[in-house]
Amino acid sequence: MSERGALSAKDLKRFKKTLEDSRKAILENARKTMEEESNFDTDDLPDEIDQASSEYAQSMNFRLRDREKFLLKKIDKALARIEDGSFGTCERCEEPINLKRLEARPVTTLCIRCKEEQEKKEKSYG
Ligand SMILES: [Zn+2]
Repeated sequence: MSERGALSAKDLKRFKKTLEDSRKAILENARKTMEEESNFDTDDLPDEIDQASSEYAQSMNFRLRDREKFLLKKIDKALARIEDGSFGTCERCEEPINLKRLEARPVTTLCIRCKEEQEKKEKSYG
């Protein structure tokens, strides 16, 4: 394990829980929408999202709005970063990301400085 990460195992655990909770909330919301909009007999739907068949998961994924899909992708990426130990480290400059920033936005992959630079670039591109 590298020493550069400023996050303790406890912090990581907490972020993981936060991310998993957001993920669950998005999926649960999508499931509700799907139940409301479809003619499926809800008894046929799996109780646990984890047990969902891939077909079911696919149709549910289809129901997710673009914004939710985007967020879900970011959450998955953040969770993967927790697994591989890169969570809390800026993707660009590899400096630790400020803890307060992570708490406000656990899916972030950039430190505030790199984020500002990115936004400046995006603006100048149009
Ligand atoms: Zn950075």
